[in-house]
Amino acid sequence: MKKLLVANRGEIAVRVMRTAKKMGIKTVAVFSEIDRNAPHVKQADEAVCIGKSASKESYLRADKIIEVSKKLNVDAIHPGYGFLSENDAFAELCQKNNIIFVGPKPMSIKIMGSKLEAKKAVKTYNIPMVPGIDEAITDVSKAKTFANNIGFPILIKASAGGGGKGMRVVEKESELESQMQRAISEATSAFGDGSVFIEKYIKSPRHIEIQIIADSHGQIFHFFERECSIQRRHQKVIEEAPSSVLTETLRTKMGEAAIKVAKACDYIGAGTVEFLLDEQHNFYFLEMNTRLQVEHPVTELITGYDLVELQIRIARGEALQFKQTDLKINGHALELRVYAEDPMNDFLPSVGLLERYKLPHGEGIRVDNGYEEGMEIPIYYDPMLAKLITYGKNREEAIQIMRKAIDDFQVKGIKTTLPFGKFVCEHEAFKSGDFDTHFVKNYYKNEALNKYSEEEAKVAALIAVKQFLEDQKLLRLPNS
Ligand code: ADP
Ligand code: ADP
Ligand code: MG
Repeated sequence: MKKLLVANRGEIAVRVMRTAKKMGIKTVAVFSEIDRNAPHVKQADEAVCIGKSASKESYLRADKIIEVSKKLNVDAIHPGYGFLSENDAFAELCQKNNIIFVGPKPMSIKIMGSKLEAKKAVKTYNIPMVPGIDEAITDVSKAKTFANNIGFPILIKASAGGGGKGMRVVEKESELESQMQRAISEATSAFGDGSVFIEKYIKSPRHIEIQIIADSHGQIFHFFERECSIQRRHQKVIEEAPSSVLTETLRTKMGEAAIKVAKACDYIGAGTVEFLLDEQHNFYFLEMNTRLQVEHPVTELITGYDLVELQIRIARGEALQFKQTDLKINGHALELRVYAEDPMNDFLPSVGLLERYKLPHGEGIRVDNGYEEGMEIPIYYDPMLAKLITYGKNREEAIQIMRKAIDDFQVKGIKTTLPFGKFVCEHEAFKSGDFDTHFVKNYYKNEALNKYSEEEAKVAALIAVKQFLEDQKLLRLPNS
């Protein structure tokens, strides 16, 4: 593999290129018109504009990306996450054109891309699953009977869903029909597939997922867990590894279950098996994501492995030279997704100009970043700016470094999830490790951050006074 095209943008494109460079592989960026001056374009050895700003006209143009790859003699394509990463037709198109797709086989993507197909595939492997219907449902009366059997509340889910979208909680029978209709129409417009199904709504779950790495020689490893329970809109904001609730026995059990899920779809490469863990510590299979996960850095920090490097080695056909028992957890890592969103206004997108943008540095701090000062945040894509990742010898230290790093991360011009991150790190429930996926609902209000804005205003006022006094000194100098 001499040349790798990264079919993505933002922090993940930059992150993949970093490893490719380290491995002596040349990189090609593709970009949309609005991303002409984006960091991922500047950091690639070659860069090609593939269309207008809307994803459909650029980052989702499989045909264009293949055309560029052939023209520039690209050997392999890394899809990152989002965009074409879970598109089996794209993986197949790469194969047909003799380009390595850095990811699993098209068939594995296809199976796991449908939550219903995924459940079917793992059924014979004795994997615990959330009680629910295992087929698409359209008949309301059937749905009612079923929901009454498993008991309310229930969750209606889009089979093709992802990124926390296409989910509706139904508390009682009278709401079922309208919620089902909404779910079907949302799923149709968002994913082009209106199939929905019903799952029991687990009351206080933790989202625990297992990182899987499988090579093409039949070896499958698990790289332990990531705890991703701090979410808004069913989507993760803060992740960590290891989880503070897993015992060694449970970790091994979940790791083994995840390996079986990977086997069920003949998996190759890096993938993630997601589970819910209930209050009694029973775990249930949710879905498998057949790509590099947003929060992969926390696993890298506690295991010492570069997961993108492993993906590339596997794509080159190498057999991995370690054993499961060689893998060890070392220390603790946290990740905060820095989204261009206003946490004081229900996490609504906050686009605009990055008037000031200074990243924190220091021991135990890693920032995977896709933006620069002076850039405009485009409205077309996922609003994540960067991931702030910290590492400490234990959880307390990782949290402490995170608090300091949030203070040192300077952003002006737009709102971000940074102050929310600080709120979480200072909250007793988070510090003690006793929380679930309802952390935001249970503990967080828009006004909770007022405290920080007041603190910030005080600091700003103090800086202004100090500056004033210094200026006065300077003015007096000639007379003294
Ligand atoms: P992860 O699963 O890696 O923790 P997310 O669930 O936040 O991360 O999704 C990662 C990215 O992929 C986001 O940009 C999200 O919008 C996008 N994404 C995930 N699944 C889908 C899907 N089925 N369709 C479209 N976009 C998706
Ligand atoms: P996506 O493809 O959007 O990532 P998931 O099935 O992984 O969908 O679920 C995303 C989140 O939604 C979970 O992390 C959890 O917070 C919540 N969730 C999903 N299924 C259930 C369930 N059956 N009960 C309670 N919460 C759930
Ligand atoms: Mg998920």
